[in-house]
Amino acid sequence: MALTLIRNATVVATMDDAGTEFAGGAVAMRDGVVLAVGTSAELQPLAGHADEIIDAAGCVVTPGLVNTHHHLYQTLTRALPGATEASLFGWLKRLYPIWATYTPDDVFAATQLGLAEMALSGCTMSSDHLYLFPNGVTLDDTIHAAQGIGLRFHATRGSMSVGESAGGLPPDSLVEREDAILADCIRVIDRFHDAADGAMVRVGVAPCSPFSVSQGLMRDAALLARDKGVMLHTHLAEDADDVAFSLERFGCRPGQYAEELGWTGPDVWHAHCVQLDHGEIDLFARTRTGVAHCPGSNCRLGSGIAPVRRMVDAGVKVGLGVDGSASNDSGNLLGEARQALLLQRVTHGATAFAAREALRLATRGGAEVLGRSDLGSLTPGKRADCAVWDMAQVASTGAWDLVAGLILAPPSGVRDLFVEGRAVVRDGELVRTTRRAVVTAAQKSLSRLMALA
Ligand SMILES: [Zn+2]
Repeated sequence: MALTLIRNATVVATMDDAGTEFAGGAVAMRDGVVLAVGTSAELQPLAGHADEIIDAAGCVVTPGLVNTHHHLYQTLTRALPGATEASLFGWLKRLYPIWATYTPDDVFAATQLGLAEMALSGCTMSSDHLYLFPNGVTLDDTIHAAQGIGLRFHATRGSMSVGESAGGLPPDSLVEREDAILADCIRVIDRFHDAADGAMVRVGVAPCSPFSVSQGLMRDAALLARDKGVMLHTHLAEDADDVAFSLERFGCRPGQYAEELGWTGPDVWHAHCVQLDHGEIDLFARTRTGVAHCPGSNCRLGSGIAPVRRMVDAGVKVGLGVDGSASNDSGNLLGEARQALLLQRVTHGATAFAAREALRLATRGGAEVLGRSDLGSLTPGKRADCAVWDMAQVASTGAWDLVAGLILAPPSGVRDLFVEGRAVVRDGELVRTTRRAVVTAAQKSLSRLMALA
């Protein structure tokens, strides 16, 4: 089977347990799996058997970045007037009526655009949280878009069931009946979910948030997910309003709400968790509950600074998320890693968070949060998801320590990207489609949405 050898990298940062880095490094990939990692000299005997040899002089090679939280459909509502200076609840109310006009083609085009952006910036795996299904939209639309770009994809079937008339936040027109939600969760899990190592598609169950679904649906979703062996995902403790809603409506903090409904454990990850207190951090560490930290979105919406230093020190699994493009509004994980580092230093001082630690969150940390022990480091036997970063770019030239430079002086994009050993980006361009095709499809949908708004 095909053997690909990447060699002569200035450094290979493996993100293994010991944080091993190889100067003059090489990575060999065969059958979708990392075959060997070491110095170029050590892997030289493989060169004669290689079907392809990639020269990575001047480059850093890392595991592919892993995005743990996104709403890809939102890429068509970036920088929307009326939503650019709003906090979470006001922002949602401005956007719901526009999202209600989406069709399946719009969701496909938006997802394709968002994943092209993620791929070109070094991400090999993304999760997605789609929680509204107007006009015949299905989760299938997002999965088909991901297959077209070539990224590994963890789709989650979101939902909203408590509309305005029942005291929830979304308009009644965007909520679904709970029996229909659960039935569609079963349909998409049965159709798409792959539990095997190396899976390109997994499906999770993801009621949108405590303020848009009932406690009954939260509980039933947890039972369903465990019955099917899939993961659970939602938003939790995003900002002060979110916590106030929980205290008023449920009489407890978000962590306790999650615990009582079965929403803690190694098969659960929560987005944001900006407002977790010490007791909730201990709960998440004890139960191996994961967190998708989305610093760009948290800053953009003024939600606060998540206690990432404390979470990591307590042993909570933490990955990074770009969050939806209506609240970021860009999807670049190196940017999020940089932002995560900066926010912890603002809080705790200049030595509080190292560049390599931020890179670890963006790779290994994300893989752990998404339950992917088969990914996240360049170690023999792990899946061959890797990113080749050319540091001889205007934005990154001048960096002495190129691994730290990835975070502190990030290059403007990835040079080559491999998923399951297959090229998704080469020389900075998408392999399976083109930038022009992706943008043209998105612009067509955008014109329609603007005309309706
Ligand atoms: Zn979100």
